[in-house]
Amino acid sequence: MDVRDIQRLLAAVGLYRGAIDGDPGPLTMAAAAVILGRHDAVPWKAWPKSRQLIAAGQAVLLVLGHEPGKIDGLMGPNTREALTEWASGPLKAAVERIVGAGYSVADAQGTYPRQESVATFYGTAGGPDCTGGIVELPIPFRLAWDLNTSITSFRCHKLVAAPMTRIFREAVSHYGADQFESLRLNIFGGCYNYRNMRGGSSLSMHAWGIAVDLDPERNQLRWGRDRASFAVGHYDAFWNIVEAAGATSLGRACNRDWMHFQFARL
Ligand SMILES: [Zn+2]
Repeated sequence: MDVRDIQRLLAAVGLYRGAIDGDPGPLTMAAAAVILGRHDAVPWKAWPKSRQLIAAGQAVLLVLGHEPGKIDGLMGPNTREALTEWASGPLKAAVERIVGAGYSVADAQGTYPRQESVATFYGTAGGPDCTGGIVELPIPFRLAWDLNTSITSFRCHKLVAAPMTRIFREAVSHYGADQFESLRLNIFGGCYNYRNMRGGSSLSMHAWGIAVDLDPERNQLRWGRDRASFAVGHYDAFWNIVEAAGATSLGRACNRDWMHFQFARL
């Protein structure tokens, strides 16, 4: 596993925001330590840096739903396969890439493409642009899968970094930090993730880094207004801000997947 792969993996879960430069500097090692810190039984501190990095890559692959096998810092067949599975998506999508359009009209008009045209507008799923933007959060968010870990930024597609940043800034200033937190709008369920749509064979909008999930536990995929916590009136202001920025809430549009909004129309 090349150091760049490890940096991309750490970036995909919001733990690393340095350059993807293959240089395992302090930012990379700090991100590795955060994810490895979740595995008490793994004696990673005793391992050399190169083995720690592979172990960190394994820990992220696990979070992303691939199956790297034991977190041992060794490139065994399971790890190799999980890495290939994670990394091979972009190559497949690259074949279908249609170059052109989109970029110039992007953010300024707040008009985003329909789901079926995202590859034309945003480029290759899983490509470097999909993690080329940084959303600086106005208050620390917590990882939904590890509530003890706070993040102050996360990576997204470079074309949506500005409106995404604005959404959170406006929402925090609307609600105030305390209420924003008590509404659990700061529970980060992920942005960039190279995967298919749940229960489907086409790629998820997350594969372009243009969708965000918040508080997934209380807004499960198939839950409608009767159960999803984000469907109640307190959240109207949040969804108004999301929609004013040009994004689409699947909850408001389809009454499902209330955790999710995306910069693509249905
Ligand atoms: Zn989602």
